[in-house]
Amino acid sequence: MTDIGIIGLGNMGGPMAANLSRAGHHVRGFDLSASACVAAAEQGVEIVEAASDVCTGAEVVITMLPSGEHVLDLYRNGGLLEAASPGTLFVDTSTIEVGESRLARDLAVKAGHRALDAPVSGGVVGATAGTLTFMVGGEAADFQNVEPILSVMGKRAVHCGASGAGQATKICNNMILAISMIGVSEAFVLGEALGVSHEALFNVVSTATGQCWALNTNCPVPGPVTTSPANSDFDPGFATALMVKDLGLSQRAADGAGVVTELGKHAHELYVHYSQQGGADRDFSGIINAVRESIEKEARA
Ligand code: NAD
Repeated sequence: MTDIGIIGLGNMGGPMAANLSRAGHHVRGFDLSASACVAAAEQGVEIVEAASDVCTGAEVVITMLPSGEHVLDLYRNGGLLEAASPGTLFVDTSTIEVGESRLARDLAVKAGHRALDAPVSGGVVGATAGTLTFMVGGEAADFQNVEPILSVMGKRAVHCGASGAGQATKICNNMILAISMIGVSEAFVLGEALGVSHEALFNVVSTATGQCWALNTNCPVPGPVTTSPANSDFDPGFATALMVKDLGLSQRAADGAGVVTELGKHAHELYVHYSQQGGADRDFSGIINAVRESIEKEARA
């Protein structure tokens, strides 16, 4: 049994804390939201009065927060680093900027602690089922240390390199996903215009060289994959607002590194547009509606 502190008991952090508690770890948790605290307490998490209280006696402190601002603010002003015993392992599982992640690590190390970035993929379903994938950046020895804990919350944890490498890997993955979903959407809309049925296109492409997760698992047209969000008016799934956030992070990281990712940049603009047109809370595969609209507009012009 390990003493674990966790801050951020929302859609992701709540079920992650519940899984840790269910596995027999002593979990202290804190969230600004009273309802998130009540839900976590029902799952065996000991709720404390202040964020810094999760550090009392903790060997590992996990954060699962909306943005880098939240993480850095807590590290700088939340009293966590002061309250933790020397050498505590801070594991930030939020999705934040690569630069912010390295800054958070530096703050923790300067205060005498250890730190890893460990963003996840798998969404709320994966957090609940304990099947997340963790992408981890930081010291290899710290990764090995925390692996047994990550294995309670996920099915796979990969050490991606030095501090920030977990965040970098996550945003590269999501940039591929965003671009491939647009490509799949364009193919279905083109197929419609050329008289090819969704079923025929899916049956061929899903086993041909065009196959990818965006088509095989999260198909943007209803029918071929009965579990894809397209069958339920794009009920997420992975909400467009979160995709916009991750693409924004990838573009800021690209700017910082002096790298131009043309398709990533364009994909970001298209998802922002779809988000502003009412798609923010829809699954990101709803981008097919924006693609169809834009192709039809071009055809009319
Ligand atoms: P969420 O908004 O449901 O949860 C965040 C929680 O943090 C909220 O309950 C909020 O009250 C709490 N919080 C904010 N500031 C706080 C503070 N100072 N002290 C204590 N608690 C504080 O968000 P989420 O969906 O759980 O996402 C969390 C992170 O995981 C984000 O970085 C997101 O990008 C990433 N992520 C989410 C998904 C997903 O499908 N939801 C998938 C992968 C990664």
